[in-house]
Amino acid sequence: MNFELSEEQELMRDSFARFLDEQSSTVRVRAAMPSGFDAKMWREFAELGALSIRVPEDAGGLGLGLLDAALLMEEAGRTLVSGPLAETLVSARLLALLGGQDDLLSRVLAGQAVASIALHDIAQQPLQWIAGGAVAEAVIARKGDEVVLVAVGADDRRAEENLASTPLAEIALGSLPAISLGQGTQAVAQFAQAVEEWKLLIGAGLAGIGREALKLAAAYASQRKQFGQFIGQFQAISHPLADLLCEVDGGKFLVWRAIRNIADGAPEAGAAVSIAAWWNAEAAGRAVAQALHTFGGYGLTTEYDIFLYNLRAKAWPLVFGDPQLLLAEAGRRLYGSEKVALPEAGDCPIEFDLGDDARAIAAEINAFFEKNVTPQMREKFHYSWEGYNPEIHRKLAQAKLLFPGLPKEMGERGLAPYAKIAAMDAFEHQGYNTPAANVAQMVALIIHRFGSDELRKEVLSKLMAGEAIASLGYSEPGSGSDVFAAQCKATREPDGSWRIDGTKMFTSGANLASYVLMLCRTNPDVPKHKGLTMFIVPLKAEGVTIQPVYTFQDERTNITFYDGVRIPDSWRLGEVDGGVRTMSASLELEHGGGFSKVMRAMLKAAEQLCRELQRDGKPLIESTSAQSRLARSMANLWVSDVLAFRAQWTIAEKKPNHAFGPMAKLFSSEKFLTDARDLLDLTAPHSLSKRTGPAGFLNQCYRHAQGTTIYGGTSEVHRSMIAERALELPRTRA
Ligand SMILES: Cc1cc2nc3c(=O)[nH]c(=O)nc-3n(C[C@H](O)[C@H](O)[C@H](O)COP(=O)(O)OP(=O)(O)OC[C@H]3O[C@@H](n4cnc5c(N)ncnc54)[C@H](O)[C@@H]3O)c2cc1C
Repeated sequence: MNFELSEEQELMRDSFARFLDEQSSTVRVRAAMPSGFDAKMWREFAELGALSIRVPEDAGGLGLGLLDAALLMEEAGRTLVSGPLAETLVSARLLALLGGQDDLLSRVLAGQAVASIALHDIAQQPLQWIAGGAVAEAVIARKGDEVVLVAVGADDRRAEENLASTPLAEIALGSLPAISLGQGTQAVAQFAQAVEEWKLLIGAGLAGIGREALKLAAAYASQRKQFGQFIGQFQAISHPLADLLCEVDGGKFLVWRAIRNIADGAPEAGAAVSIAAWWNAEAAGRAVAQALHTFGGYGLTTEYDIFLYNLRAKAWPLVFGDPQLLLAEAGRRLYGSEKVALPEAGDCPIEFDLGDDARAIAAEINAFFEKNVTPQMREKFHYSWEGYNPEIHRKLAQAKLLFPGLPKEMGERGLAPYAKIAAMDAFEHQGYNTPAANVAQMVALIIHRFGSDELRKEVLSKLMAGEAIASLGYSEPGSGSDVFAAQCKATREPDGSWRIDGTKMFTSGANLASYVLMLCRTNPDVPKHKGLTMFIVPLKAEGVTIQPVYTFQDERTNITFYDGVRIPDSWRLGEVDGGVRTMSASLELEHGGGFSKVMRAMLKAAEQLCRELQRDGKPLIESTSAQSRLARSMANLWVSDVLAFRAQWTIAEKKPNHAFGPMAKLFSSEKFLTDARDLLDLTAPHSLSKRTGPAGFLNQCYRHAQGTTIYGGTSEVHRSMIAERALELPRTRA
């Protein structure tokens, strides 16, 4: 896995970014309005090589790859570049590949002439809106099975006053003089590649626009006060920005992912391009609107720059037409028979593969399940504690497969980070991602770090052998999200032992476990997070009562009561009143995962149902609407994947981490829920049934998804973390 650019790419991006910061400042962008074209900047940008990056070296270009061009476009979006950059990059490449236009090409690369592209076949649509058409002396177009260069005279280049003051023109290309650049399958394929490249580049540019708009909004919300506080402290302001940050970052990585797909020749690559373009048009459109709203009335004034982002985010993609067409296109590419020619990717250091060690451990886990798990056992698998099977648990421990996150010093395998991720993914793939193993692993690590010899001998050994499991006793009736407000009391007895009194809510697995990891109040007279201590409490001890609490997810949890429960001091973990520090040790097991695996399984079930169900005399999956909705779920799944990959890579490589784990969790749980709802609708009324098979599974996903936005920290708490750590907004929780 790799999210790091090559050194050359970093250098290239930095040098373009520096240039654009100076030459495409918002002052310059405003000065270039209303034509939307800054000729001086354009020439200097060309001198820097910006316009030649996709032209092969033998044609006088830099011969760089798609990712390089996407990086350039992100910077151009961030700085609202005043010129038709995406159109120029693809036109220049086409001119070079099709040949015969050396003079025009060299003038385009020097920034002395502009060439643009017509995105639709002019045989069918002879009159078209052309980005950069107001300044372009030539437009490359497809005309049936021919690719032509249309010469646009000064009189035909009539600038259209437009939403975002871009150099847009509506041109009657069909009636202007044109010369043929090529004919037949190859030429048409090369043209199609250029259009696909344009989609990716516009997607990247929009990600840049969206990210910068969110940055401006966050900065404003951190200094504007109303009602005596910074407006960024209102969650109604900060939370939508946090959601949009996930979407905008996700959009940028969708472009990178599509490039990786193209480089790998992946069958989904064509759909990945359409989805990247559609997603970024949507995400940037919403991000800039929310950003503008953050400025209140000032956002409407031309004094502030935010309106520039707002308008450009619309202008860039809409030249193609309604972005929903791109989603429908993705649907046809995923579920219909549409094929498309894709551009050459070039160098792409971005990699989502976890590597050979990861594959090996996943194969070992899969083989374990093959050998040890019967179909009857499988029938009882469940994503919750309900799926716990003591026999499988013990055998996994014996095979040293139960605790992939634990180090060698604990007698475990000490897997490298990506192998750990693969192991957890493999359990999920098998449908055996029981929290019993994950919590046992976390409790084991805490006991190993902070426990007494007695606790290690008595409890740790049993956890490690897979003979016992432990529950988590954090939540209480009065404190859930505000976990450090716990009131369950631990009082020191004269003989040094502890007496536990109180109630824990949602103590999942307490009916199956031998122990509970408890967060108890040991000092009520200090700030809440300073008066907590962690203990291990045996659930069979006198004074413990366990009562079931049932959920509509077929998942039992419990309320546990502790009435004068006595435990020795040796069952304490960490310092007295140091509970928060002890608890944070478990954070190093953070997986940064999210819910992609179950989302993928849900989408597969929906696809299967859409193939089986008939609508209007044909399989549902053949309808445009079903294809679009499935494609939208696919997009959410891919963004969930890339956000999780980034979080995992950041943790594994110890890179600066700006709430990437919370972003992966928030985004995937929320989309799991919206997609579960939509796919349930799409396949109704069959989806209402709990019968075994895809309908029953969809039905279960709909119920499961609700919980994912609550446990492990609610979506609201995650939004706050993202707002604070990734957008640097002020804290909203006491
Ligand atoms: C099936 C299930 C299993 C669970 N298992 C366990 C377990 O094993 N061990 C354990 O300790 N806990 C467990 N939990 C508890 C879980 O962690 C909590 O439910 C969760 O942290 C939320 O707490 P709460 O339910 O008290 O809701 P609250 O914290 O009361 O939240 C109610 C609503 O208010 C919102 N809210 C709260 N604070 C803020 C804020 N600062 N800003 C904005 N909105 C806010 C929340 O997002 C939520 O929408 C489980 C829960 C469930 C449902």
